[in-house]
Amino acid sequence: MRDPRHNILFEPLAIGPKVARNRFYQVPHCNGMGHREPTALAGMRAMKAEGGWAVICTEEVEIHPSSEVSPAIEGRIWEDKDIFAHERVVEGIHRHGALAGIELVYNGPRTNLASRLPPMGVNSMPVNSEWLEPQQSRAMDREDFRAIRRWHRNAALRARKAGYDLIYVYAGHGLTLTQQLLSRATNDRTDEYGGSLENRVRFLRELLEDTRDAVGHDCAVPLRIAVEESQLPLGLERAEMEDIVGMLAELPDLWDFCMGSWSRDSRTARFSAEGFQEPFVRGLKKLTTKPVVGVGRFTSPDAMVEQIRSGVLDFIGAARPSIADPFLPKKIEEGRSEDLRECIGCNICVAGDMQSVPLRCTQNPTMGEEWRRGWHPEKIAPKAREARVLVIGAGPAGLEAAHQLGKRGYEVALTDARDTLGGRVVRETTLPGLRTWQRVADYRLGQIGKLANVETYPASFMTADDVLAFGATHVAVATGARFRANGRGRNHPQGIPVGEGASVFTPDDIFEGAAPSGDVVVYDDDHYAIGSALAEKLAAAGCRVTLVTPAPLVSHWTHNTLEQGFIEARLVESGVAIVTRGVAAGIRKGTFAGSDGVTGRPFEIAADHVVLVASREPQLELFRSLKAREAEWADAGLESVTTIGDAHAPGMIVHATYAGHRYARELDMPVDADAVPFLRDQPR
Ligand code: ADP
Ligand code: SF4
Repeated sequence: MRDPRHNILFEPLAIGPKVARNRFYQVPHCNGMGHREPTALAGMRAMKAEGGWAVICTEEVEIHPSSEVSPAIEGRIWEDKDIFAHERVVEGIHRHGALAGIELVYNGPRTNLASRLPPMGVNSMPVNSEWLEPQQSRAMDREDFRAIRRWHRNAALRARKAGYDLIYVYAGHGLTLTQQLLSRATNDRTDEYGGSLENRVRFLRELLEDTRDAVGHDCAVPLRIAVEESQLPLGLERAEMEDIVGMLAELPDLWDFCMGSWSRDSRTARFSAEGFQEPFVRGLKKLTTKPVVGVGRFTSPDAMVEQIRSGVLDFIGAARPSIADPFLPKKIEEGRSEDLRECIGCNICVAGDMQSVPLRCTQNPTMGEEWRRGWHPEKIAPKAREARVLVIGAGPAGLEAAHQLGKRGYEVALTDARDTLGGRVVRETTLPGLRTWQRVADYRLGQIGKLANVETYPASFMTADDVLAFGATHVAVATGARFRANGRGRNHPQGIPVGEGASVFTPDDIFEGAAPSGDVVVYDDDHYAIGSALAEKLAAAGCRVTLVTPAPLVSHWTHNTLEQGFIEARLVESGVAIVTRGVAAGIRKGTFAGSDGVTGRPFEIAADHVVLVASREPQLELFRSLKAREAEWADAGLESVTTIGDAHAPGMIVHATYAGHRYARELDMPVDADAVPFLRDQPR
């Protein structure tokens, strides 16, 4: 039974000529599948429709090859041939009663790496490119404006033909030509498209009118627009924003508000709380009678209700919460909020798009696998036969395996040496900003607690004797990995020389209570979150911290999670000194010695203690001793012993949950080791 306090989330609401069945709105989001993997994409979107979202939108869809964003993989609707792929997406969404929206885009000047067409822009300026390609756009003339309007109109007609209900005009995230025209920061034109606000809004107005004219009242025409641009001097600000909303108030059928850059829009939990966009959006709704959608990594139904009741939003927009739990609306509708698989705000999903591969999700291992592997986020095949499964290690891999095996109906025992279940998650969440990662363990423990056929055994260290005496048919060894103390890692395959009397810690030592003081060097050859978060923690504890990394940027990989700039800024604010391109040469008592990775110039830093954040050693003692006694397995009733997660191949939490899930899916299932284990979108 639904909690009556949440009823308002299920009130239908019109968007122009269409009616959304409830207030759950999946705003456009990238996914790394786009035009390259349309069937997989359709499977993913359809799953969310099945999960109860009222509106499901595409990622940005390029309207013309003169603004394509390769190597990023977005949608394309360049010509009629592209309609077919979109029909699949729409069909999947409609099958489950949701409305399908498409976000048409003409990007600001891009390199056009695939089409090799010359980029066009507001003016002749360097292209928008991650890769800093030294190329400039051509300043658009009147004919160019007319051409883009024509392309946008044609794309809208194709989108209508494909069956979309909502056809977006897009001016957000610092990516779009329309936003660049709106903003004084980027628009210095002196013709009718520059200067006064009226002129800067002109093109956006034209696109809205053209789109409406093209699709008539068959489709709704929403506008997605940036509400701020604090990254730029002279960028869009509140007063101007209110004027823009006032000027265009009734022209779109819905206002979809976002931030002026993607990194600030999709901010991770380390740098933002649920609902963090409210201050930017509050008050804009009263400037229009049209419905308003906004985002803020909403996972709490009470917070969602509050957004609507207090008049901030009409629709609860979500990208990440819909990725982590495609069934979020259904669960709230059925009064099962405790079953929500809450997004942890880690942006591993974003990294997929950044790396031009299908998105992955830490919390939802089935994301992107709906069609490819036929995985459903809520359903799993029943067990193939009676069997007892012992899962050793209750980190993310073991927890996910135990949960899914339990759902399959196996008799499952989950053991862990520690008193508190959760493995690495319990430790890593002690670092500043990583609190939400606890949801990985909490969700699974909550679900396991409901399954009578899964028993948990904390404080139960398992030896080979224990395992053989247990009577399990299958054993999953999810014993995790520990950071290496000798610095072996990406840049130091032989390790780092450590002299007599030098004080060296690993992150695990710190998690287990070691408390360095004085001058501390954190040497980060891991390049993700742990090194910088440890540096921040130690600085807060009063240490004089220097973070040294061989990479050109601190936490270099977090460029993919849109966090790198935020992390660096926070370290600086925390008083952490930063040395990039610093390659460790050796650690002596009181001194960290290194050299510049480019020039080779040596340097030394005073260090009472050094924390080495390098690679990790899989914990395989138990697995090896079981393997050594394979001859005894049959008598013990044991058929298989399998390593999963960090014990198998150390990685991020996303790798561990995926490994646990796959183990559970494939247990007792025939798997052809010679076949490609998933379907592929291939040209016939
Ligand atoms: P993963 O990320 O692969 O899930 P973790 O490192 O998070 O791995 O979790 C591994 C867990 O396994 C830890 O909580 C650890 O206490 C537990 N563990 C390791 N060895 C044993 C053992 N022999 N018996 C029981 N638990 C173990
Ligand atoms: Fe949320 Fe992380 Fe999943 Fe993205 S990958 S949806 S941020 S849990």
